[in-house]
Amino acid sequence: MTFTDLNLNDSLLKAINDQGYTTPTPVQAQAIPYILEGRDMLAGAQTGTGKTAGFTLPMLQILSEQKMAKNHRKIRALILTPTRELAAQVADSVKIYGKYLPLKSAVIFGGVGINPQITMLRNGIDILIATPGRLLDHVGQGTVDLSAVEVFVLDEADRMLDMGFIRDIRRVITILPKVRQNLMFSATYSDEIKTLANTLLRNPAEVEVARRNTSSELVSQSVILVDCKRKSALLGELIVKNKWEQVLVFTRTKHGANKLTEYLQKIGVTAAAIHGNKSQAARTKALNDFKLSSVRVLVATDIAARGIDIDALPHVVNFELPNIAEDYVHRIGRTGRAGCEGEALSLVCVDEFDYLRGIEKLINKKLDSRIIEGYEPDPSIKAEPIQRGRGGAGGGGNRGSNGGGNGGGSRGSKPTQKRDGGRHEPSRRDKDRRY
Ligand code: AMP
Repeated sequence: MTFTDLNLNDSLLKAINDQGYTTPTPVQAQAIPYILEGRDMLAGAQTGTGKTAGFTLPMLQILSEQKMAKNHRKIRALILTPTRELAAQVADSVKIYGKYLPLKSAVIFGGVGINPQITMLRNGIDILIATPGRLLDHVGQGTVDLSAVEVFVLDEADRMLDMGFIRDIRRVITILPKVRQNLMFSATYSDEIKTLANTLLRNPAEVEVARRNTSSELVSQSVILVDCKRKSALLGELIVKNKWEQVLVFTRTKHGANKLTEYLQKIGVTAAAIHGNKSQAARTKALNDFKLSSVRVLVATDIAARGIDIDALPHVVNFELPNIAEDYVHRIGRTGRAGCEGEALSLVCVDEFDYLRGIEKLINKKLDSRIIEGYEPDPSIKAEPIQRGRGGAGGGGNRGSNGGGNGGGSRGSKPTQKRDGGRHEPSRRDKDRRY
């Protein structure tokens, strides 16, 4: 199948060609025809599958079919994403795929000044990409008009719920016109997602593509068993000895990300941290430096890394396993993309065996584990409960892996597979600050 078979117009085909895409990905091949028919859609697809083009291309085609007076632009498509990074990336995609079309798009998210956004909205746009908190700030101030929205996209709906955005989403939905096309994307299907889908979608077409990171043969996944306190030294050695030039490393906490970054810098490995305590400018810079290979290692927390799109990332390292098994799947989805081989390596200490079992159960696969000479785990060390970050903010560690941290908070709390954010509702301001 080619993009021409999908009945996309010449402007879109030209933009696709400029990107060098020759074949639609599975989610594109399945979703584009339904969306062009005007159907609502529920798609099980995650970042890395080409889902952004999957909804953006047909959306652009639908919007370009009806010409609107240039001086009377109203927002006709709204795309909600959970994080600023993802919002910025989706906005880039909309611009890239729509470059030959007379449609205007804009992105709004928190953490940056609201006034330039107000001016942008006042000038008139066709497509708005937004995070929920900042969108509702604009709704509250009367600076955004959603009365003409025809297409509503809820991207990474599962992560939205994890982050406690359900009420915000419901509020946005009540503001939208009753008649519209709804497209919902989610990597996982919890009961909450199903409930949301039932209220949002009308007779949806369902599209499900394999999670490329669980099914992909291109990602080799393995585990190295090592004591917590030796993880930083081992990671440094692996990077230097193997001459890894672009490595995305995950920690559980922001504090852990900072400590590990400092350690790597100290041993002469260029590294930057990306997490919710960093300013938007610092996050963007870290990501760009990493993409341009001026820093070798990007150390990220799960939420900050969500939606990061870096083509052909060769190495993903789980410095600490995530306490939510699904996050493992999201993490390793950053490698082995677009036909390139990738390696996902997890450094696992005795405290994390429960997490490892949870992950293996989820992906239905036992991960090969090995021990590196000189870094053999000390058998006398007994497992200790892993503490969750202080209110998700991280800090300190029970075992304090040298440079990594191991979660924060009080000792003795039981590891849990549930994220607090799914249960309680942080205020909108909190949300912007937390991630
Ligand atoms: P996404 O899942 O939307 O984050 O896209 C993942 C990556 O795949 C992005 O870097 C896209 O530029 C790329 N991509 C999207 N569609 C295609 C395609 N049909 N062929 C090759 N690469 C693609």
